[in-house]
Amino acid sequence: MPRIQKILIVGGGTAGWLTACYLAKALNSAAPESIQVGLVESASIGLLGVGEATFPSIRGTLAAIGLDERRFLVGATATYKQGIQYVNWVRPPNTPGPDRFFHPFSTPSQRGGSPELLPYWLLGGAPEGTAFAEAVTMQSHLVDHGRAPKRASDPDYQGPLNHAYHFDAACFAATLAEHGQSLGVTRHLATVERAELDEHGAIARIVTTELGPLSADLYVDCTGLRGALIGNAMQSPFRSRRDVLFVDRAVALQVPYPKADSPILPFTRSTAQETGWIWDIGLQKRRGIGYVYSSRHGDAERAEELVRRYVGTAADGLEALHLKFETGYRPEHWRKNCVAIGLAGGFVEPLESTGIALIELAAYMLTHLLPGDRDDMEGTARKFNEMMVARYDRIIDFIKMHYCLSQRRDSAFWIDNTDPASIPATLQERLQLWRHRPPHRLDFVTDLEMFMPASWQYVLYGMEFRTDLEPMRSAYPHMEAAQREFAMIRQIAGHALNDLPDHRALVEQLCREH
Ligand code: FAD
Repeated sequence: MPRIQKILIVGGGTAGWLTACYLAKALNSAAPESIQVGLVESASIGLLGVGEATFPSIRGTLAAIGLDERRFLVGATATYKQGIQYVNWVRPPNTPGPDRFFHPFSTPSQRGGSPELLPYWLLGGAPEGTAFAEAVTMQSHLVDHGRAPKRASDPDYQGPLNHAYHFDAACFAATLAEHGQSLGVTRHLATVERAELDEHGAIARIVTTELGPLSADLYVDCTGLRGALIGNAMQSPFRSRRDVLFVDRAVALQVPYPKADSPILPFTRSTAQETGWIWDIGLQKRRGIGYVYSSRHGDAERAEELVRRYVGTAADGLEALHLKFETGYRPEHWRKNCVAIGLAGGFVEPLESTGIALIELAAYMLTHLLPGDRDDMEGTARKFNEMMVARYDRIIDFIKMHYCLSQRRDSAFWIDNTDPASIPATLQERLQLWRHRPPHRLDFVTDLEMFMPASWQYVLYGMEFRTDLEPMRSAYPHMEAAQREFAMIRQIAGHALNDLPDHRALVEQLCREH
């Protein structure tokens, strides 16, 4: 039986090193060196350099590869992220009504015996004016007070509040590279010039400038937007979804804090603008700030002007990095003996940080679906591709929901986003159902979704979507119990304020303890 004995990853960014660590840890911890994992990275081609915000799945991934949390915080200059704050997404600035809402990572409280809170919030059971996220979890209240999601005494990657991280992408890749090599990954410093195919159209070898030909049983393309193997050699087509999600450019700045002890935001702030939105991410020593915009609706000069205006005088003298990308994916991430992970396979714009989460998912699927026999590659590829496509399509629906529910009509970008022709039928159908009943767990197939029902609910009701439950009021007889729970959440949030440390204080303490 022809076994897969050698896997070669091309690309040393987040995708390459995360996949390398995952494979090496999972495949070789039981039987050392049973599968050789090598990684080729180019010294002359740089990383993309953005990709600073993650999804809570990262905690499981970092724990699975055996990276100590303190070492990760120091190496990647990481901080905690507890959700996303959306500013000016519902309505334009300076118009009556709330200007922001929060998408927390903690799910709505549902303690034993208490009812599901969403219907009771919809029926007006929470104190008047209380936003959904504020009513159902204490996380909203705690991040407003700059709290960390855990205490120094909590175990690695665990804590009372669900969380992810922010980090510097280059520092993260370097930390993973060191860790990957300690797990047995062989690193080759070389630039791949081309791949040579065998008579079946599979990759026979890759040819590098510095080290000549290298061969393996399976090749993982992590070369970023270049797609050097999956695109150039395997000709796997790219399906653009620009018809749904319009942003395709970014301009990014690295902004120092005014003082060494400036507070660090414990969430990503996303502020809507005339042709897209600005991300604001707090790292240990600087903020990462960037404007993601649609080139069909605005140009690079205006985008840079707006991001500089957002930052203020702290942007003076800082160099701006301009980037191009396209929302979409390769329906065949895996073709023959080549599988693409990371930007080489596809990308959905940065909102909600799905890029690295998709890398984690792909590394997990590759590890667990890896065929025992090389002849089973085709069936495995089909399964892998089906699952990736399903995830992408559901993520795209979720991201589009943020835009199409906006009440903004102050620019062509926002008007075009509500054009039904740009809204996938699957999303339109869900929104139609949710006008008369709230989203339910059964609306989602867990293995195909990245975002669980709670995330859909936080964004739906944060964007002020209306679900009319009045005709069904009698189906919800536990109003008093729900109201007790709303009161309890406010009370517990008060206690937790004393229990959880300040965000910067925790990060600095954990880094000192490394
Ligand atoms: P890269 O980082 O581009 O790495 C490519 C690697 O391939 C490099 O090591 C390079 O040297 C190597 N390489 C390329 N060609 C060759 C060759 N011929 N031979 C040898 N080596 C080669 N994701 C998130 O999860 N959160 C975010 O907040 C986020 N923000 C983003 C913002 C923007 C504007 C964009 C465009 C993306 C963002 N992403 C985000 C996506 C995220 O950046 C990527 O998922 C992540 O950085 C992974 O990149 P990568 O490893 O696929 O590619």
